[in-house]
Amino acid sequence: MNWEPWTGCYPASDGCKYCYFYGPYSKRYGQNTIQKTDKFDWPVRVNAKGEYNIKGDKILATCFAADFFLPEADEWRREAWAMIKQRPDLEFLILTKRIDRFPVSLPPDWGDGYGNVNLGCTVENQETADYRLPLFLSYPIKRRFAACSPLLGPIDLRPYLGGLEHVTIAGEAGREGRVCDYDWVLDIREQCVAAGVTFWFKATGSQFKRDGIVQKINPYKQGSLAKELDISILNGKKLF
Ligand code: SF4
Repeated sequence: MNWEPWTGCYPASDGCKYCYFYGPYSKRYGQNTIQKTDKFDWPVRVNAKGEYNIKGDKILATCFAADFFLPEADEWRREAWAMIKQRPDLEFLILTKRIDRFPVSLPPDWGDGYGNVNLGCTVENQETADYRLPLFLSYPIKRRFAACSPLLGPIDLRPYLGGLEHVTIAGEAGREGRVCDYDWVLDIREQCVAAGVTFWFKATGSQFKRDGIVQKINPYKQGSLAKELDISILNGKKLF
């Protein structure tokens, strides 16, 4: 289940180049005005009986279609944190390419982190990994994962895996999507195996290179092909 409290965004790094907000073929082309959505208060909205619309024990993929730490959302994020705190029975899976804004984006009672927040730092290549992950690991966060998405090159994650619970990988989607090489994916998988970190190959992206051949993959098959390759190691981990 997704919770998108706000919408609209702008690039943070090369991985954003073909984001769904950009390019004439993009899903959300022309919609990148940063504003609250009509689902802003979704986690705490109640029905006529006064019960939460969203029942407990669920994982909410939070802000997967924008960025939780956008400066334009600073004001709204205060309320978002309050809603997150109000629902300890939900797990909020938050993804960001702006982890360097984490220290200036916290509620006063954050302490060593809220137990129901699982924060994901997105990196697309070695450069973004080497900039973002040391910061990410230095912050007080109870649960953390990395998302190599879109994966644009080989990444040595080994210096950082000790502090991560999980790694997700996906190639770049969209008509302009750049090549994702299966060798990069397998290499990161091996690093995760050696470090005892769970690993999910979520999607191939639209151009997938395997055995030296680049194949165009239909948008509807990018997830199913990754699944067919059967290389994920989840050890019973529940993803959203
Ligand atoms: S941070 Fe995410 S939503 Fe924002 S431009 Fe980059 S890819 Fe798009």
